[in-house]
Amino acid sequence: MAHDPECIFCKIDRGEIPSEKLYEDDKVFVIADINPAAPVHLLIIPHEHTPTLLDLEDDQHDIIGHVFKVAAKLAKQKQVAEQGFKVLHNVNHWGGQRVFHIHFHLLGGRKFGE
Ligand code: AMP
Ligand code: ZN
Repeated sequence: MAHDPECIFCKIDRGEIPSEKLYEDDKVFVIADINPAAPVHLLIIPHEHTPTLLDLEDDQHDIIGHVFKVAAKLAKQKQVAEQGFKVLHNVNHWGGQRVFHIHFHLLGGRKFGE
């Protein structure tokens, strides 16, 4: 599925909901999370609408390597790489997923787990 007309991230990608894209290439775009859980909280979002990780076809998993490449680049740019950061991916309700268009959280700028 290329785009879902009702999906909030597809709407942002198409410019129907205003949000500044902080990075974009042919595979993903990046926005700031509207409800940040850390000083740096970005969302790395594939352009392709896929509801959950479980819906990715066997030939579509390359996107995940690309997401981690972009995460490393942005963590360096945002100067959270040296101290450390997290890349999080939530799957389905019990996994904390609320937007059903796959996305990866890049969190940094504070110490986690203490
Ligand atoms: P998840 O719980 O993994 O599905 O994460 C969804 C994330 O999207 C949450 O952290 C929300 O704060 C964030 N979010 C929802 N709507 C928007 C929006 N319009 N712009 C930026 N972030 C959003
Ligand atoms: Zn979507």
